Amino acid sequence: MTKKLKILVVAGDGIGPEVTGEAVRVLQSVAELGGYDFQFREELIGGVAIKAKGSPLPEDTLKAALESDAVLLGAVGSNEFNALPPSERPEAGLLKIRSELGGFANLRPSFAWPGLSQNSPLRPEIVEGADILFVRELLGGLYFGAPREWDKRVNAAWNTMRYTRDEVVRVSKVAFELAAKRRKKVTSVDKANVLEVSQLWRATVTEVAKDYPDVALEHQYVDAMAMHLMNQPRNYDVVLTENLFGDILSDEAGVITGSLGMLPSATIGGKVNLYEPVHGSAPDIAGKGIANPLGAILTAAMLLRYSAGLEDEAAAIEAAVKQVVADGVRTADLARADKSVEVSSTTEVGSKVREVLVGARASAAAR
Ligand code: NAD
Repeated sequence: MTKKLKILVVAGDGIGPEVTGEAVRVLQSVAELGGYDFQFREELIGGVAIKAKGSPLPEDTLKAALESDAVLLGAVGSNEFNALPPSERPEAGLLKIRSELGGFANLRPSFAWPGLSQNSPLRPEIVEGADILFVRELLGGLYFGAPREWDKRVNAAWNTMRYTRDEVVRVSKVAFELAAKRRKKVTSVDKANVLEVSQLWRATVTEVAKDYPDVALEHQYVDAMAMHLMNQPRNYDVVLTENLFGDILSDEAGVITGSLGMLPSATIGGKVNLYEPVHGSAPDIAGKGIANPLGAILTAAMLLRYSAGLEDEAAAIEAAVKQVVADGVRTADLARADKSVEVSSTTEVGSKVREVLVGARASAAAR
């Protein structure tokens, strides 16, 4: 039976449409090569949605998202709306779609691309070979816990870091399942020497680990982990952590890849999975055709892996990206460290990825 997939594309603002355009074209190539039926529908989110419909997440967009098999998002944010209160800005649309879709596990790979180590501020011998998958809990912890308040009468403010055992169990299972298919190691990050919530986290993760005897579990305190990630990133496979720690550590580990434009992400476990590159709308380069589309293209690979079970196709996209990078094809953000490199545009990089995909398929068929 033909594999059908309904994909909602919400390209958003700034470079969002430029990079998601390339990701969609790569998905269309995969569909043609494999005989799949991928149906794309486009809706508005962010600043463009405010302008057209008066809301950063119009009802139509949310309805279409809930009816789809996967949502591919570009980026939101535009300086034009900076004067509005946070609840009315483009970013409010992103927060709302994330919470409405309900994904609790945010997956962020951090990979040292061969040939790009000179773009990282870390020494090549430290980053080369690093391949980490962060599994960050996304719906609990300090960002959502109550009570939360800034009480100006007493000049004090507070937030609450809260987790239930069930919330830790479900995200831990995701981490162990993924590690079982990778290098079979989970590093759980907490602050169990100080926080009760981390003690519950550590006890629960340890309990879940018993169901995965082939996967090694280690615990690290978050402060030590921040240092280890920069000293020895190759030591880590799957890093499991709560919302705030994951936010900070996965950004820190972004330096391994050498450019924000190379980082994909997926949020899974909810009603519909949400896929988005890590970068924002980059107003400074929007409309110039120079944005790096590889983060969005790698995000499309994650979509095939986690929403369609098309592991071979996902791996083929990742291999094509690796090839394109190894061949020296670079948008400006990647060429910065090497002045001798010819700079390619967003669409040129996207076309190269598709060429490599099609070529790899043709040579596999000829064998
Ligand atoms: P940003 O990620 O948009 O840009 C940071 C820097 O990285 C800029 O210099 C930009 O040119 C560069 N950059 C980002 N993506 C790139 C790419 N694909 N290729 C080449 N260079 C790239 O972050 P920012 O400047 O802090 O924020 C800009 C806007 O985006 C703000 O409105 C912010 O709220 C929003 N934002 C949205 C998201 C999202 O939609 N997920 C994430 C972060 C920021």
